[in-house]
Amino acid sequence: MSIRKNDIVVVIRGKKKGKKGRVLQVIREKGRVIVENVVAVKRHLKPGRDKSAQAGGIVEKPGSVAVSNVMLYCKKCDRGVRHGYRISGETKSRICKKCGEQI
Ligand SMILES: [Zn+2]
Repeated sequence: MSIRKNDIVVVIRGKKKGKKGRVLQVIREKGRVIVENVVAVKRHLKPGRDKSAQAGGIVEKPGSVAVSNVMLYCKKCDRGVRHGYRISGETKSRICKKCGEQI
């Protein structure tokens, strides 16, 4: 898996297509990532029933997205892009396949 925590990714498929955000967590076993700004569940909570939500209201939980549905975001291209690797000496860096910018 090439997506890492704190990467900026764009959702390319599904309901949340086009959403962009930072990777908060990588769930390697499931092949999913939790992306900032990509909200999966909006739950209306009744006050008092759940101790964690005594005030009630709407709770937004970050949603997880399949890794195959996200692409790394390239600032220069301003879109999700395919990435490749560039190896210089001992450092391997990820680059945008389109413009060559490091991502
Ligand atoms: Zn690019």
